[in-house]
Amino acid sequence: MNIHEYQAKALLRDYGAPVSDGVPVTKAADAKNAAGQLDGPLWVVKAQIHAGGRGKGSFKEADAGEQGGVRLARSVEEAEAHAKAMLGNTLVTHQTGPAGKQVNRIYIEDGSDIARELYLALLVDRASSRIGFVCSTEGGMDIEEVAASTPERIISFDVDPATGYQPWHGRRVAFALGLEGAQVKQCVKLMGQLYQAFTEKDMEMLEINPLIVTDAGDLKVLDAKVGFDGNAIYRHKDIAELRDETEEDAKELAASKYDLNYIALDGEIGCMVNGAGLAMATMDIIKLYGAEPANFLDVGGGATKEKVTEAFKIITSDPQVKGILVNIFGGIMRCDVIAEGVIAAVKEVGLQVPLVVRLEGTNVEKGKQIINESGLDVIAADDLKDGAQKIVKAVKG
Ligand code: GDP
Ligand code: MG
Repeated sequence: MNIHEYQAKALLRDYGAPVSDGVPVTKAADAKNAAGQLDGPLWVVKAQIHAGGRGKGSFKEADAGEQGGVRLARSVEEAEAHAKAMLGNTLVTHQTGPAGKQVNRIYIEDGSDIARELYLALLVDRASSRIGFVCSTEGGMDIEEVAASTPERIISFDVDPATGYQPWHGRRVAFALGLEGAQVKQCVKLMGQLYQAFTEKDMEMLEINPLIVTDAGDLKVLDAKVGFDGNAIYRHKDIAELRDETEEDAKELAASKYDLNYIALDGEIGCMVNGAGLAMATMDIIKLYGAEPANFLDVGGGATKEKVTEAFKIITSDPQVKGILVNIFGGIMRCDVIAEGVIAAVKEVGLQVPLVVRLEGTNVEKGKQIINESGLDVIAADDLKDGAQKIVKAVKG
């Protein structure tokens, strides 16, 4: 689960991290007043969307002007003008995809004078099963380019969970970032605060880009991107409340309400599968035969007819879907339940695209019978390979 920058900063502020003062705003009419609550003489108006690269992004609408989603202002009037330009318009960044994201909220911040922009992240390193620090002197808006062309400028190391965070970890970051004097002490303290926030709140990722050195020589968190482990949200009511459903894919949101493991993808073949492993194999084999999956979907072991119906509805609501492959290996999941769910869903939403069904396992004969007697225009398949070939052929001709 992701949160907005302004929420992440509020959270880090609670742990003592140095962040600028700021006010979130949803209506342009409130912007001038909000900016007036901050000191100035420099303000920053920042689009709040769940995607990075805002500074280098651009708006789809001409009335949003030429600038991206992070704009400096020298007066409260200018801050208000930026707010007007951004709110309600669609920001496209390299992380949003071409559709972009509508800006429903901006964050007006007290502007900082920047001497250096650094990069810092904490993440779960799956290879070592530990929390790792990643840092670079080359912070700012081009970190992807740094990682691609000069990876030696990115330094990373893990923290042993037996000791947890130790001051020497912070000194290691400080020296890697070329910090000096009092900044080293600030860094040791800040890294400790970040590590504590990371572990206590079950974060998956905490990226601060840039971490800045101000003209006065102090460290400050200027941007913050936080992702939480979705499996741990149940023990953080405060974090769960920060969820912004308008930022999530509508289909993924609907799926999560029915406890379906669904991830939207870019392809044309919708997949309904039981078991994550079979779902992965199904996506692979679709690709092997020359098409692309439109989604990952594991309906789970004990899915009910209602759940299957909902899953089918979610798949068909995707306008990119040109064909559907149902691939069920009935173990705990019974083939007749899947068949009933598919038929119920088709009766409700109709079937505009070819449907290939491959059933195997518990109650397979009953399942096939239900489908055959339904009068639906279904293409039956015998196995995984057959199913994939048939749906690709049906879609691509
Ligand atoms: P991102 O583009 O989504 O990563 O948004 P950031 O919050 O990282 O802002 C992008 C860039 O805007 C930063 O790298 C800075 O160069 C600049 N910026 C952001 N806040 C300030 C500020 O308070 N003062 C100044 N001078 N520049 C800022
Ligand atoms: Mg940034």
